[in-house]
Amino acid sequence: MSKFLDEYALILSSCERPSRYIGDEFLSANKDFNTANVKVAFVFPDKYEIGISNFGHKILYHIVNSHPSYMADRAYAPDKDFLDLLKKYNKSLYGLESKVPLNSFDFLGFALQYEMSYTTILKMLEFSNVPVLSVERNDDDPIIFAGGPCAFNPAPMCDFIDLFLIGDGEEVVIEILDKYDKIKTKSRYEILEELSKIQGVYCPKFPKKTTKRIFIPDKKSHPVKSPISHFVSVHDRATVEIRRGCGRLCRFCQSAHTNLPVRERNSDDIISLTCDYVKNTGYDEYSLLSLSSNDHTNIEQIIERLNEHFKGTGVNVSLPSQRADKFSIKLAQLMQQEKKSTITIAPEAGSQRMRDVINKNLTQEQIINAVLSCVRSGWGKIKFYFIIGLPFEEDEDVLAIADLIKNINYNCKKEGLRLPSITCSISVFVPKPHTPFCWHGQNSIEEIERKKQLLLSRKPEIKNAKLNFHSPRVSQLEAFLTRGDKNVGKFIYELYKNGSYLDSWEENIDFELYKQVAQKLNIDYAQEATKTFDTSEDLPWDIIDCGLNKQWLINEYNLAKQAKNTIPCEVKCSNCGVCSNLKTHKIYDKTII
Ligand code: SF4
Repeated sequence: MSKFLDEYALILSSCERPSRYIGDEFLSANKDFNTANVKVAFVFPDKYEIGISNFGHKILYHIVNSHPSYMADRAYAPDKDFLDLLKKYNKSLYGLESKVPLNSFDFLGFALQYEMSYTTILKMLEFSNVPVLSVERNDDDPIIFAGGPCAFNPAPMCDFIDLFLIGDGEEVVIEILDKYDKIKTKSRYEILEELSKIQGVYCPKFPKKTTKRIFIPDKKSHPVKSPISHFVSVHDRATVEIRRGCGRLCRFCQSAHTNLPVRERNSDDIISLTCDYVKNTGYDEYSLLSLSSNDHTNIEQIIERLNEHFKGTGVNVSLPSQRADKFSIKLAQLMQQEKKSTITIAPEAGSQRMRDVINKNLTQEQIINAVLSCVRSGWGKIKFYFIIGLPFEEDEDVLAIADLIKNINYNCKKEGLRLPSITCSISVFVPKPHTPFCWHGQNSIEEIERKKQLLLSRKPEIKNAKLNFHSPRVSQLEAFLTRGDKNVGKFIYELYKNGSYLDSWEENIDFELYKQVAQKLNIDYAQEATKTFDTSEDLPWDIIDCGLNKQWLINEYNLAKQAKNTIPCEVKCSNCGVCSNLKTHKIYDKTII
């Protein structure tokens, strides 16, 4: 540490927030770099306070550090001021715990969480003194792997990443390290060739159809402690994953489709993990994480038991996202035992027709009842998630968002209840690979702006609602990048070369630069984002097998056109292909508690 401080003192004393860069957080693993057989740095290409909260990162960090012979360190994307200082003093990025330069690690494992972080990855490689292009790396350079939602279409990042981890990372990361440990004296070419044979690993140098990995979440692989930031992070709480996958099959949702089948953790493990996590960290809040937390078979009993355990301690629960049809008065009451916060519900669309198009399997009555349950139980703040620009959307579907809120207000008044304060987070539809809507073109920016104004024209009628719109310009870039092919890599590279960095923060995006780079490379990203693909054409992500039958996805797309629902996989199997193709099955918590 003192050597590090000597070397980096000037940088740390001149940068804006040194606490981001010094490590030594409470509960850091701090394993010895020199004695570990294999050294990995998990790199999150976004700011420290975002990355340190990322649950996937915490799991992999925990798994590697639990191995007696391996060590995992962490790195996050520095702010621009810190990068400038690194450049000025000719220093490189380093592992936060070991303080060892990132290019001395055996592996750098990047989180591919969102498309707008792609150029940040390239800049971080440059500042780690690792060649940005994989073809330029030699035997001494670390192997660069990446996993997360964006790995399901590896094509745009193929020129920069050596190995993509497809699907659940728990087992595959240790398999990679085990194999590497045995063959690390071989050449880079030979090592990559060997590692590419592991199931769930896609190596662009040795391209082959790659099937995702599926892991049955167990107790051992779940962390019960994780490094705690010196200052605030986006989620300062103990996070326990209660369920992986979601069988609701909303047609726009990539996470639901790529994480099938549903696998529930058993109640006893959830309770014990939560108690241990809170005890170890001292957090006063725990989050029961899932794509749809109140879908867990025993959610009420679990919260009941945890409430009993934490009674009088001030520790309270948060459920990140909830189904309105599963929201009950009992659940609302259970969740307000210690402290009331905001209830978040995701109707996604305002009209019934649109909710049928997206396969939300949710009625207006269910949404209103869920809100009434909350308000009756004393919740004053509701957050709604909506999407506009969805496939087959008409103007009346957009206006129905305002109608839904008016209806909620009418029902509250009828019961003599106070109107809740409602915040609507309204995003723009982005067609995602491996979903039934992957073929559908996005609305143009002009069309989204028109729909936004249409909805805003109804704002005076819903004074208790705040409408927060996501940027259509950013959503357009996301749509272009997420469905991109190999050529998109040139676009990403050129952006990086011209200074694009931390573009996951809209204020950092230089839209003019994007336009100039697109012109130079003869790319029309607006056209690509709005393009509707033919269902018969080959797609860049066809090389990745999630288990879903393509014909099933096409059928779902056709059912959407007719606004027809598919029964959730929780209720009845719709033969999407995952279970038969990948020889797996859904798992529900059968624990009687
Ligand atoms: S095959 Fe059936 S049970 Fe399995 S994930 Fe698909 S819909 Fe669900």
